[in-house]
Amino acid sequence: MPTSSPKPALKTRERLSEVRYEIRGELARRARELEGQGRTLIKLNIGNPGAFGFRAPEHLQRAIADHIADTDPYTHQQGLPAAREAIAAFHRQRGTPNASPERVFVGNGVSELIDLSLRALLNPGDEVLLPSPDYPLWSAATILNDGRPVYYRCKAENGFLPDPDEIAQLVSSRTRAIVLINPNNPTGANYSREILERIVAIAAKHHLLLMADEIYDHILYDDNTFQPLAPLAGDLPCLSFGGLSKVHRACGWRVGWAVLSGDPLRSGDLHHAMDLLGALRLCANVPGQFAIEAALHGTDTISGLTAPGGRLYETRRALIECCDASEHLSLVAPAGALYGFPAVVGDAAKGFDDHGFALEMLESEDVLIVPGSSFNVPERNHFRVTLLPEAPVLREVFARIDRVLDRRAER
Ligand code: PLP
Repeated sequence: MPTSSPKPALKTRERLSEVRYEIRGELARRARELEGQGRTLIKLNIGNPGAFGFRAPEHLQRAIADHIADTDPYTHQQGLPAAREAIAAFHRQRGTPNASPERVFVGNGVSELIDLSLRALLNPGDEVLLPSPDYPLWSAATILNDGRPVYYRCKAENGFLPDPDEIAQLVSSRTRAIVLINPNNPTGANYSREILERIVAIAAKHHLLLMADEIYDHILYDDNTFQPLAPLAGDLPCLSFGGLSKVHRACGWRVGWAVLSGDPLRSGDLHHAMDLLGALRLCANVPGQFAIEAALHGTDTISGLTAPGGRLYETRRALIECCDASEHLSLVAPAGALYGFPAVVGDAAKGFDDHGFALEMLESEDVLIVPGSSFNVPERNHFRVTLLPEAPVLREVFARIDRVLDRRAER
């Protein structure tokens, strides 16, 4: 019988081999496999409030329910006028210069707008200054839009804060933008006004776009206060990103926005490019857009969770106490956001490999964490947990972490 020659497999985009998103990668796949075998896991890999019992505030749910009959048509590619007006007003109130509804882009989460704005901005070989550690979508979207990530370090010994002098040294003739994630995922660092002003000065000197991912803007602990970037940027082109996923606990609604600020004459092309790319994907999810006005005009509901006694506050306290009590862990306490990013130190850190550790935590302790190197850091001794479970659950997780690290330290 004649044998047929094997058919060639489809090829995919080559640059995908440079892209990693391990928050939902191999370990998450293995976790699903273990769950399929009947194991009960504690999964701390995703900053997904809804999965931990948080609900979006009722007045947001009502806003969608009240308007569901109006959500059939496509909207304008940049979003519903009333939603864009609410976002522009929110930004004007915090001092963002020239924030108008015409310069607001509503997207299917900040995720879509990170990709869309980098696609609008970059030509092949252009460089984007990114924090290391970063939220890895920023690296992925830079690479997949033919750019090159250039990392500025936010080191644990500096409280995970950026060093503006280092950023200045990394600027080249190919640099197009400086990205800031503040408050930061995965470190929880909250940047001071002084650091932000120095970074603005670098952008001004080299005519760079500032991109401020501020999706955690109101999630701050203790006496930390949030300094938005755009009011400091003045006339400079600046894109500020925010959304409903975290502060308003509505990840699944897929609602995010980007606000273009600064002198409109300096960013007209970017505005048109983003409008065109927005038009090509027609519009963002419409029901979710009806919650924006309610979210931005309504009463604050997050500070009850981040103040002493609040659920996020207590889980963060558990994180700090567990790391303090462990001889194997060192922590820069997160000032904001939804994560802890401890380092393994001492004897347990000898020959440490964060992937092997995360796999061991999953296979032998039923806990899913994310290896630190997934956030584009060269070190291999960090891991990330989310602060979304109840405090006793996080304490149990750290008991298991210590058990594994005790074993490793004895080897
Ligand atoms: N930016 C940062 C820093 C994030 O942590 C996340 C999600 O975890 C996103 C953007 C994406 O958020 P969205 O749900 O709005 O797409």
